[in-house]
Amino acid sequence: PGTLHVVATPIGNLGDLGARALETLQAVDAICAEDTRHTRQLLAHFGVEKTLIALHQHNEMAQASQLVARLLGGQSLALVSDAGTPLVSDPGFRLVRAAREAGIRVSPVPGACAAIAALSVAGIASDRFAFEGFLPTKGSARRERLTALVAEPRTLIFYEASHRIEETLADLVTVFGPRHAVVGRELTKLFETVLDGDLPSLQARVAADPNQRRGEFVVIVEGAGEDADALLAEGRRVYAKLCEHMK
Ligand code: SAM
Repeated sequence: PGTLHVVATPIGNLGDLGARALETLQAVDAICAEDTRHTRQLLAHFGVEKTLIALHQHNEMAQASQLVARLLGGQSLALVSDAGTPLVSDPGFRLVRAAREAGIRVSPVPGACAAIAALSVAGIASDRFAFEGFLPTKGSARRERLTALVAEPRTLIFYEASHRIEETLADLVTVFGPRHAVVGRELTKLFETVLDGDLPSLQARVAADPNQRRGEFVVIVEGAGEDADALLAEGRRVYAKLCEHMK
Protein backbone atom coordinates (compact mmCIF):
# COMPACT_ATOMS: atom_id res chain seq x y z
CA PRO A 1 0.00 0.00 0.00
CA GLY A 2 0.92 3.66 -0.34
CA THR A 3 1.61 6.11 2.47
CA LEU A 4 -0.57 8.95 3.74
CA HIS A 5 1.73 11.92 4.36
CA VAL A 6 0.28 14.56 6.68
CA VAL A 7 2.00 17.75 5.56
CA ALA A 8 2.01 21.08 7.41
CA THR A 9 1.89 24.20 5.22
CA PRO A 10 2.74 27.83 6.11
CA ILE A 11 0.45 29.94 8.32
CA GLY A 12 1.11 33.07 6.27
CA ASN A 13 4.73 33.18 5.23
CA LEU A 14 5.44 30.96 2.22
CA GLY A 15 9.09 30.81 3.26
CA ASP A 16 7.99 28.49 6.04
CA LEU A 17 7.23 25.59 3.68
CA GLY A 18 10.07 23.18 4.44
CA ALA A 19 12.19 21.31 1.91
CA ARG A 20 10.77 17.93 2.90
CA ALA A 21 7.20 19.23 2.65
CA LEU A 22 7.90 20.38 -0.91
CA GLU A 23 9.59 17.09 -1.85
CA THR A 24 6.65 15.15 -0.45
CA LEU A 25 4.06 17.26 -2.29
CA GLN A 26 6.04 16.71 -5.50
CA ALA A 27 6.32 12.96 -4.97
CA VAL A 28 2.77 11.91 -4.07
CA ASP A 29 0.12 10.76 -6.55
CA ALA A 30 -2.48 13.22 -5.29
CA ILE A 31 -3.02 15.82 -2.58
CA CYS A 32 -6.09 15.98 -0.34
CA ALA A 33 -6.83 19.62 0.43
CA GLU A 34 -9.41 21.48 2.43
CA ASP A 35 -9.93 24.18 -0.21
CA THR A 36 -8.52 23.06 -3.54
CA ARG A 37 -8.37 26.60 -4.97
CA HIS A 38 -6.36 27.82 -2.02
CA THR A 39 -3.96 24.86 -2.21
CA ARG A 40 -3.64 25.20 -6.00
CA GLN A 41 -2.30 28.73 -5.45
CA LEU A 42 0.21 27.50 -2.89
CA LEU A 43 1.36 24.72 -5.23
CA ALA A 44 1.57 27.11 -8.19
CA HIS A 45 3.93 29.30 -6.18
CA PHE A 46 6.27 26.31 -5.81
CA GLY A 47 5.75 25.04 -9.37
CA VAL A 48 3.97 21.86 -8.28
CA GLU A 49 1.20 20.45 -10.49
CA LYS A 50 -0.76 17.70 -8.86
CA THR A 51 -4.23 16.20 -8.75
CA LEU A 52 -6.16 17.77 -5.88
CA ILE A 53 -8.95 16.05 -3.99
CA ALA A 54 -11.30 18.10 -1.82
CA LEU A 55 -11.45 16.89 1.77
CA HIS A 56 -13.40 19.15 4.09
CA GLN A 57 -15.61 18.72 7.11
CA HIS A 58 -18.72 18.08 5.00
CA ASN A 59 -17.36 15.24 2.86
CA GLU A 60 -14.60 13.76 4.99
CA MET A 61 -16.58 10.69 6.10
CA ALA A 62 -17.68 9.93 2.54
CA GLN A 63 -14.24 10.57 1.03
CA ALA A 64 -12.28 8.62 3.64
CA SER A 65 -13.21 5.16 2.34
CA GLN A 66 -12.41 6.08 -1.28
CA LEU A 67 -9.08 7.55 -0.24
CA VAL A 68 -8.23 4.48 1.82
CA ALA A 69 -9.03 2.37 -1.27
CA ARG A 70 -6.55 4.45 -3.30
CA LEU A 71 -3.91 4.01 -0.60
CA LEU A 72 -4.53 0.26 -0.44
CA GLY A 73 -4.20 0.21 -4.22
CA GLY A 74 -0.65 1.54 -3.90
CA GLN A 75 -1.08 5.29 -4.36
CA SER A 76 0.62 7.72 -2.00
CA LEU A 77 -1.35 10.73 -0.84
CA ALA A 78 -0.57 13.95 0.99
CA LEU A 79 -3.05 15.63 3.31
CA VAL A 80 -2.80 19.40 3.70
CA SER A 81 -5.09 22.07 5.12
CA ASP A 82 -5.39 25.74 4.15
CA ALA A 83 -2.76 26.76 6.66
CA GLY A 84 -0.61 25.12 9.29
CA THR A 85 -0.88 21.57 10.55
CA PRO A 86 -3.78 19.41 9.35
CA LEU A 87 -6.11 18.06 12.09
CA VAL A 88 -5.32 21.03 14.37
CA SER A 89 -8.69 22.84 14.25
CA ASP A 90 -8.83 21.49 10.69
CA PRO A 91 -10.16 18.39 8.92
CA GLY A 92 -8.27 15.13 8.62
CA PHE A 93 -8.82 13.20 11.82
CA ARG A 94 -11.34 10.81 10.25
CA LEU A 95 -9.16 10.11 7.23
CA VAL A 96 -6.13 9.48 9.42
CA ARG A 97 -8.11 7.14 11.62
CA ALA A 98 -9.54 5.24 8.65
CA ALA A 99 -6.06 4.91 7.12
CA ARG A 100 -4.60 3.63 10.39
CA GLU A 101 -7.43 1.16 10.81
CA ALA A 102 -6.69 -0.15 7.31
CA GLY A 103 -3.05 -0.70 8.30
CA ILE A 104 -1.74 2.11 6.09
CA ARG A 105 1.38 3.98 7.09
CA VAL A 106 0.58 7.56 8.12
CA SER A 107 3.67 9.74 8.27
CA PRO A 108 3.99 13.38 9.40
CA VAL A 109 5.88 16.16 7.67
CA PRO A 110 5.78 18.68 10.54
CA GLY A 111 5.86 22.43 10.13
CA ALA A 112 3.96 25.56 11.06
CA CYS A 113 1.19 25.52 13.64
CA ALA A 114 -0.27 28.82 14.86
CA ALA A 115 -0.78 27.59 18.44
CA ILE A 116 2.84 26.48 18.81
CA ALA A 117 4.18 29.56 17.02
CA ALA A 118 2.26 31.79 19.46
CA LEU A 119 3.32 29.74 22.48
CA SER A 120 6.94 29.99 21.40
CA VAL A 121 6.89 33.80 21.68
CA ALA A 122 4.36 34.29 24.50
CA GLY A 123 6.67 34.03 27.48
CA ILE A 124 3.95 32.17 29.38
CA ALA A 125 4.69 28.82 31.06
CA SER A 126 4.95 26.33 28.21
CA ASP A 127 5.83 23.10 29.99
CA ARG A 128 2.16 22.17 30.18
CA PHE A 129 -0.56 23.64 28.02
CA ALA A 130 -4.11 22.87 26.93
CA PHE A 131 -5.07 23.62 23.36
CA GLU A 132 -8.72 24.71 23.36
CA GLY A 133 -9.00 25.67 19.68
CA PHE A 134 -12.06 27.75 18.79
CA LEU A 135 -14.54 28.59 21.52
CA PRO A 136 -18.26 28.09 20.90
CA THR A 137 -19.69 30.96 18.85
CA LYS A 138 -22.69 31.62 21.11
CA GLY A 139 -22.00 33.87 24.08
CA SER A 140 -23.60 31.69 26.75
CA ALA A 141 -21.92 28.49 25.53
CA ARG A 142 -18.60 30.35 25.28
CA ARG A 143 -18.76 31.61 28.86
CA GLU A 144 -19.76 28.15 30.04
CA ARG A 145 -16.73 26.61 28.30
CA LEU A 146 -14.45 29.25 29.81
CA THR A 147 -15.94 28.85 33.28
CA ALA A 148 -15.14 25.13 33.16
CA LEU A 149 -11.48 26.13 32.61
CA VAL A 150 -11.11 28.54 35.54
CA ALA A 151 -9.23 26.09 37.76
CA GLU A 152 -7.12 24.64 34.91
CA PRO A 153 -3.48 25.01 35.94
CA ARG A 154 -2.13 24.52 32.42
CA THR A 155 -1.58 27.42 30.03
CA LEU A 156 -4.64 27.81 27.79
CA ILE A 157 -4.43 28.33 24.03
CA PHE A 158 -7.37 29.58 21.96
CA TYR A 159 -7.89 30.31 18.27
CA GLU A 160 -10.05 33.24 17.24
CA ALA A 161 -11.18 34.97 14.07
CA SER A 162 -11.22 38.76 13.64
CA HIS A 163 -14.99 39.15 13.82
CA ARG A 164 -15.16 37.62 17.29
CA ILE A 165 -11.92 38.72 18.93
CA GLU A 166 -13.53 41.58 20.86
CA GLU A 167 -16.34 39.44 22.26
CA THR A 168 -13.92 36.68 23.17
CA LEU A 169 -11.59 39.07 24.99
CA ALA A 170 -14.59 40.50 26.87
CA ASP A 171 -15.61 37.00 27.98
CA LEU A 172 -12.02 36.16 28.94
CA VAL A 173 -11.96 39.27 31.14
CA THR A 174 -15.29 38.27 32.71
CA VAL A 175 -14.15 34.77 33.52
CA PHE A 176 -10.39 35.08 34.11
CA GLY A 177 -10.23 38.65 35.48
CA PRO A 178 -6.77 40.19 35.50
CA ARG A 179 -4.84 37.11 34.42
CA HIS A 180 -1.75 37.53 32.28
CA ALA A 181 -2.30 36.77 28.60
CA VAL A 182 -0.81 37.19 25.14
CA VAL A 183 -2.59 37.96 21.86
CA GLY A 184 -0.64 36.82 18.78
CA ARG A 185 -2.00 38.30 15.55
CA GLU A 186 -1.04 37.62 11.93
CA LEU A 187 1.97 35.56 13.00
CA THR A 188 4.68 35.24 10.34
CA LYS A 189 2.85 37.83 8.19
CA LEU A 190 3.50 41.48 7.38
CA PHE A 191 1.41 42.86 10.25
CA GLU A 192 2.47 40.38 12.91
CA THR A 193 1.87 41.70 16.42
CA VAL A 194 2.25 40.06 19.80
CA LEU A 195 0.58 41.95 22.65
CA ASP A 196 0.97 40.96 26.27
CA GLY A 197 -0.41 42.16 29.56
CA ASP A 198 -3.32 41.47 31.87
CA LEU A 199 -6.57 40.60 30.11
CA PRO A 200 -8.36 43.93 30.80
CA SER A 201 -5.47 45.94 29.34
CA LEU A 202 -5.33 43.67 26.28
CA GLN A 203 -9.06 44.09 25.80
CA ALA A 204 -8.66 47.88 25.99
CA ARG A 205 -5.80 47.93 23.47
CA VAL A 206 -7.70 45.81 20.96
CA ALA A 207 -10.84 47.93 21.47
CA ALA A 208 -8.90 51.16 20.91
CA ASP A 209 -7.25 50.21 17.62
CA PRO A 210 -9.22 48.76 14.68
CA ASN A 211 -5.96 47.48 13.18
CA GLN A 212 -5.56 45.22 16.21
CA ARG A 213 -8.82 43.52 15.29
CA ARG A 214 -7.77 42.55 11.77
CA GLY A 215 -6.48 39.14 10.76
CA GLU A 216 -6.08 35.88 12.61
CA PHE A 217 -5.52 35.44 16.32
CA VAL A 218 -4.11 33.11 18.91
CA VAL A 219 -4.91 34.01 22.52
CA ILE A 220 -2.82 32.47 25.27
CA VAL A 221 -3.95 32.74 28.88
CA GLU A 222 -1.86 31.87 31.90
CA GLY A 223 -3.14 28.85 33.86
CA ALA A 224 -4.67 29.08 37.34
CA GLY A 225 -2.31 29.26 40.29
CA GLU A 226 -2.22 25.92 42.06
CA ASP A 227 -2.87 27.10 45.61
CA ALA A 228 -6.28 26.22 46.98
CA ASP A 229 -7.10 29.59 48.59
CA ALA A 230 -6.36 31.42 45.35
CA LEU A 231 -8.58 28.99 43.47
CA LEU A 232 -11.43 29.42 45.91
CA ALA A 233 -11.18 33.21 45.70
CA GLU A 234 -11.09 32.94 41.91
CA GLY A 235 -14.16 30.70 41.94
CA ARG A 236 -16.08 33.21 44.07
CA ARG A 237 -15.08 36.09 41.82
CA VAL A 238 -16.18 34.24 38.66
CA TYR A 239 -19.45 33.22 40.27
CA ALA A 240 -20.21 36.82 41.21
CA LYS A 241 -19.38 37.98 37.66
CA LEU A 242 -21.57 35.37 36.05
CA CYS A 243 -24.44 36.29 38.37
CA GLU A 244 -24.08 39.89 37.15
CA HIS A 245 -24.37 38.64 33.55
CA MET A 246 -27.57 36.78 34.32
CA LYS A 247 -29.34 39.82 35.79
N1 SAM B 1 -4.28 24.11 11.28
C1 SAM B 1 -3.95 25.47 11.64
C2 SAM B 1 -2.72 25.48 12.54
O1 SAM B 1 -1.95 24.53 12.52
O2 SAM B 1 -2.49 26.47 13.26
C3 SAM B 1 -5.14 26.18 12.27
C4 SAM B 1 -6.35 26.26 11.38
S1 SAM B 1 -7.71 27.13 12.06
C5 SAM B 1 -8.97 26.81 10.90
C6 SAM B 1 -7.36 28.81 11.71
C7 SAM B 1 -7.07 29.61 12.96
O3 SAM B 1 -5.70 29.44 13.33
C8 SAM B 1 -7.26 31.12 12.81
O4 SAM B 1 -8.60 31.51 13.02
C9 SAM B 1 -6.35 31.65 13.90
O5 SAM B 1 -6.98 31.54 15.15
C10 SAM B 1 -5.19 30.65 13.84
N2 SAM B 1 -4.15 31.13 12.91
C11 SAM B 1 -3.83 30.62 11.71
N3 SAM B 1 -2.81 31.32 11.16
C12 SAM B 1 -2.50 32.30 12.04
C13 SAM B 1 -1.54 33.36 12.06
N4 SAM B 1 -0.71 33.55 11.03
N5 SAM B 1 -1.49 34.17 13.13
C14 SAM B 1 -2.34 33.98 14.17
N6 SAM B 1 -3.25 33.02 14.21
C15 SAM B 1 -3.34 32.17 13.16
